[in-house]
Amino acid sequence: MSDCIFCKIAAGEIPAEKILDNEKLCAFRDINPQAPVHILIIPKQHIARVEQLTEKELSLTGEMILAAKKLAESENLSEGYRLVFNNGPHGGQEVEHLHLHLLGGRQMKWPPG
Ligand code: 5GP
Ligand code: ZN
Repeated sequence: MSDCIFCKIAAGEIPAEKILDNEKLCAFRDINPQAPVHILIIPKQHIARVEQLTEKELSLTGEMILAAKKLAESENLSEGYRLVFNNGPHGGQEVEHLHLHLLGGRQMKWPPG
């Protein structure tokens, strides 16, 4: 998707503080962090939303969660963390490219806003 900001970050066309970059995924620090650690994990493939996922993407989404686990370890989030997919307008999704938020470094609240 030529006009997708996260595709451009994945392709290196827009700078970001990347902390993971492999064949399938990349992860980078959120530009507007909502916690001391706020990382976005994205597939390199353009998938707009959860609704576009099929069984073909099972391993890809699993790899996103495993990447989050490893990043949480390297960011020393031993007290826990929150993983979030904002999805669609009511879910608060602003960027239409699937992304997993890894948030940590402070106590999270429930219910979310
Ligand atoms: P959403 O609201 O779609 O779940 O989350 C999108 C996230 O992307 C937001 O937390 C926002 O701060 C972050 N974001 C938007 N544009 C950029 C950007 O150009 N660079 C980085 N690093 N993060 C971005
Ligand atoms: Zn995209």
